[in-house]
Amino acid sequence: MSLAPGSVIGIIGGGQLGRMSAIAAARLGFAAHIFSPEAEGPASQVAAFNTIADYADQAALRRFATAVDVITFEFENVPTEGLALLASLKPVHPSPEILRVSQDRLLEKRFLNDTGLPTAPWIEVLDETGLAAAFATIGLPAVLKTTRLGYDGKGQAMLRQPADAAIAFATLAPKPLVLEGFVDYAAEISVMVARGADGQIVAFDPAENRHKHHILDLTLAPAPLPPELLAEAGAMARIIADKLGLVGVLGVEMFVTATGGLLVNEIAPRPHNSGHWTLDACPFSQFDMHIRAVAGLPLPLTTRHSDAVMKNLVGPEDLALWPRILGTPGLIAHHYGKKDARPGRKMGHVTRLFPKGGLPGEFGIADALNIE
Ligand code: AMP
Repeated sequence: MSLAPGSVIGIIGGGQLGRMSAIAAARLGFAAHIFSPEAEGPASQVAAFNTIADYADQAALRRFATAVDVITFEFENVPTEGLALLASLKPVHPSPEILRVSQDRLLEKRFLNDTGLPTAPWIEVLDETGLAAAFATIGLPAVLKTTRLGYDGKGQAMLRQPADAAIAFATLAPKPLVLEGFVDYAAEISVMVARGADGQIVAFDPAENRHKHHILDLTLAPAPLPPELLAEAGAMARIIADKLGLVGVLGVEMFVTATGGLLVNEIAPRPHNSGHWTLDACPFSQFDMHIRAVAGLPLPLTTRHSDAVMKNLVGPEDLALWPRILGTPGLIAHHYGKKDARPGRKMGHVTRLFPKGGLPGEFGIADALNIE
């Protein structure tokens, strides 16, 4: 069933992903209703309706579900009981089952491997004896990660020598953990894929992601890699969307290995920071795609009209560039409306477009933004 204009799309989470989803909803004549513990957050500022309450507040979740036509989220760590309550009252897309898989690295890796998709080698770690056995198998260096609640490099530790293990095990919580073989990757890429309620699947071009202090810094679209590799990455993302029975948009993060292989690192069943370039380089963005999918509408083409470099504006240092960004021709600026520019906080992003095939070479990328 497709939603008519005037319908209300409930979005759990009040950050920038919710903000840009709410704007996409408004473009199609829908109203967004944000559920967030934070008053006047990035999404609430642009939404028609708001519920300000804790994610565990069952009464508030019930009122919210009653007031909307369909429910989606931009924040993945919604308590399971809350999700079950929402799903008993209104359609929830992507489904709570998909969230359960993506919230838990072990379920996620099992799902990926069962689907025939390669990941870095991994072993579940329950205790210190298990950890010693795991790195005897996987070898060092390796990465020890929490299975839940990790983001932007939080909840993980690099193990270079056996002596690193005890302290990493003691610090990381909650347990169990997972030990992953360290991938000496040539590049990190991501694919945004969307699937409609009717099973139609579309994928944006894979993009390359570069991180600074564990936070996404730059996205280059398309990823400057051989076309066969990009096609393979797109095909893998489609398989994931299909197998999950996804309704909505999903980000698939992958490593490109030194030998040109692909390993899936993570999936995120929501719009993703590495898909922000689609706002300016494609007729329909990842947010348009997400809203269309959850509203039961047909999915349009994902063809890009331009190549793009996207840079995140993180913390007070990057935000200090804002007036110069506005004065720099060709920079497309996005501000998330956050009042407090704490270090490490994503405050906005800028995109510069290039003619197709005209992405600057390696030496030009550092200057691609040319903030004057
Ligand atoms: P994650 O929380 O899994 O997305 O990891 C955050 C970042 O840590 C990734 O974007 C990589 O840069 C790095 N990383 C994670 N897992 C590995 C690994 N197995 N090998 C090498 N780098 C990794």
